[in-house]
Amino acid sequence: MVLKEKYMSAARVSEILGITPPSVRRLVREGFLEVKKTKKYKAGSELYFDGGTVKALLPRMPALRRKWHLEENRRIGGKKAAFKRAIDVKKTSRHSNLKKRFLHSLEFYPEKVTSLLRASYFLYHLNHYAKTGEEYLYDLKGEILKKFTDDFTDVEGLNIIFIEGAQKVILCDGCRDRARNMGISYLKYKNNHGGCSRCQREENYYSLFEFRVEYGEHKFCFHTPYKTAKKWFENIAELPHKIREKGEDEAFLFGRPISEGEARAVTLKEVTGELESFLGTYY
Ligand SMILES: [Zn+2]
Repeated sequence: MVLKEKYMSAARVSEILGITPPSVRRLVREGFLEVKKTKKYKAGSELYFDGGTVKALLPRMPALRRKWHLEENRRIGGKKAAFKRAIDVKKTSRHSNLKKRFLHSLEFYPEKVTSLLRASYFLYHLNHYAKTGEEYLYDLKGEILKKFTDDFTDVEGLNIIFIEGAQKVILCDGCRDRARNMGISYLKYKNNHGGCSRCQREENYYSLFEFRVEYGEHKFCFHTPYKTAKKWFENIAELPHKIREKGEDEAFLFGRPISEGEARAVTLKEVTGELESFLGTYY
């Protein structure tokens, strides 16, 4: 392996060292790696590291892994830790098989459908990485969904739905006083009494857009906040509408975190590489 890069992203570091991005942050916390540069995004920062330091860490990884295993054994008990690691190995092979099967199945679809499904698959994994500390990835997610909006239709299996959510109410001083006098929280006051005409309101604060990609045996579903995507549509009223149920929580919005096993089967480097090349494709 020739490693000459001066700066390496966390994605590249995790690929080279064979660890997940959360483990890269662990190396930082434990003093083995130092953040040399950060790149700011709307949704967070991407970290960059010194290529030489990463290269020097490579031969030390087996010992570091053993240290992490021992710490995990102490934390949750040796038997449980060994079981957890065995499950993780299984997950890696399960996700690798899923990936192979998925990519193979794409050979049978029309070219543009293949492109949309492939991007959806990697976007699904991007979501998990974003949920596990790489928040800056939400910017890339936005660009991908924008391209979905511009270049694809229901012919390729894309359907976009507007999910109408509540407005955000920021209580005015008078309403805050009343809540305090009643001895209840602002949130409870809002739920019980609403705001008055002097309170500030942000319409559609809890609204979002749902992107459904369904073709053949494949099905993906993504969400993006109203604020991010509203400018992509000339007329939101023309989109199919749904009312957002109260109680649908944030998990609905952001999906689940990535597991170690999954991260080894579909690396962050692969995910961002695939999605960036999708962005560069013209139809
Ligand atoms: Zn008020």
